[in-house]
Amino acid sequence: MMKQNGILVHSTGGRSTLPPFFHHKYHPQHLHYSTKRSLRVVKAAMSNTAGQVIKCKAAVSWEAGKPLVIEEVELAPPQANEVRIKILFTSLCHTDVYFWEAKGQKPAFPRIFGHEAAGVVESVGEGVTDLKPGDTVLPVFTGECKECRHCKSEESNMCDLLRINTDRTVMLSDGKSRFSAKGKPIYHFLGTSTFSEYTVAHVGSVAKINPAAPLDKVCVLSCGISTGLGAAINVAKPKKGSSVAVFGLGAVGLAAAEGARISGASRIIGVDLNASRFEQAKKFGVTEFVNPKDHDKPVQEVIAEMTDGGVDRSIECTGSVAAMISAFECVHDGWGVAVLVGVPNRDDSFKTHPINLLNERTLKGTFFGNFKPRTDLPRLVEKYVNKELDLQLEKFITHEVSFSDINKAFDYMLKGEGLRCIIRMGA
Ligand code: NAD
Ligand code: ZN
Repeated sequence: MMKQNGILVHSTGGRSTLPPFFHHKYHPQHLHYSTKRSLRVVKAAMSNTAGQVIKCKAAVSWEAGKPLVIEEVELAPPQANEVRIKILFTSLCHTDVYFWEAKGQKPAFPRIFGHEAAGVVESVGEGVTDLKPGDTVLPVFTGECKECRHCKSEESNMCDLLRINTDRTVMLSDGKSRFSAKGKPIYHFLGTSTFSEYTVAHVGSVAKINPAAPLDKVCVLSCGISTGLGAAINVAKPKKGSSVAVFGLGAVGLAAAEGARISGASRIIGVDLNASRFEQAKKFGVTEFVNPKDHDKPVQEVIAEMTDGGVDRSIECTGSVAAMISAFECVHDGWGVAVLVGVPNRDDSFKTHPINLLNERTLKGTFFGNFKPRTDLPRLVEKYVNKELDLQLEKFITHEVSFSDINKAFDYMLKGEGLRCIIRMGA
């Protein structure tokens, strides 16, 4: 076992079953996945591993709050309706951190976290017809089976079979984990577990995207950015010239601000306890800032005073139940709509006086910004690639680390530094 950049790296000396292509030292300029030649090379390399157990590196979380350890893990082949994916880029979202800390969440260890990522299908299990080896994909923490009442409804993305389930630690089909290390099963996280060179996911949780898309950027669309953007454009739906308060100016909140800006909102009020977020937020169209710490009264009252009775829309992206209540109570009576996005602690409860609802305020919540992962995500990527949507993904990507430095990504998030840290696999 060696110590590398502050993390423990197990070197087993065992023969890796990885195809030679993947032993190449990673350089971003090698990743011309848009070219037909590269895709052919990837496909050829992948066909060698189909049906076999793959030995690869994964960042295993053995204990709550302890640094992840890069281990050699074994990954079983995909079973019926599953696909095995070679992860190329992944990024860290606060949801990973909450479950890794396991302070207000149900602990499940050892576990492989990670759910924002982009990769290429390595092999597919029985019954998979929508995807094939070599397809460029985004794994998603919530799925779309395309058969249940939710999937058939235009209004819902809460698939009965594959909706987000933070307590599920195994694959749906057989209740088993596909990962193991040192003979022990390792739990899955959100059906994606992308902090691994390879992972297995249910086909319904995998969106096939345009291979010309820059994967080191669109990987952030597989969770946080789509969530914030969709919370604004699909759920809050601010009108042109309206006012919007965004609580929490992390990547999700700033994506909500982008959505509000794209929708034509003229006042976007950013609320955060961390004042260092404000400078950065100006680039995302946030026009005014409120730090609840600077005021003696509740922030909802401060916002009501600033806006002659309340904002037209508010979008909460913090995970703090106090912020959720403020976000609801700061919308204008008669028409105000508040949208909750942050993931609360397990035992949190939301308390407000019912009169706030009777006075014609609406409270909503959303997972994944109401996007249907397999139907809507490829379209969103397409709009980004064709520049049909003024969505500037680069602005969200403030850090980049190699896979062996994954714990640095956790440090940045814990310190509230930056927005998204891209973790490059294979380096
Ligand atoms: P982040 O940590 O980067 O940003 C959160 C921001 O909220 C921070 O800047 C923090 O200072 C601020 N904050 C915390 N408490 C606050 C309070 N009481 N008042 C004002 N500001 C406060 O996190 P992120 O990656 O942007 O994620 C934001 C939230 O969205 C998390 O709870 C995450 O779990 C959740 N999330 C939900 C979905 C979904 O589908 N609903 C998807 C992705 C992420
Ligand atoms: Zn469904």
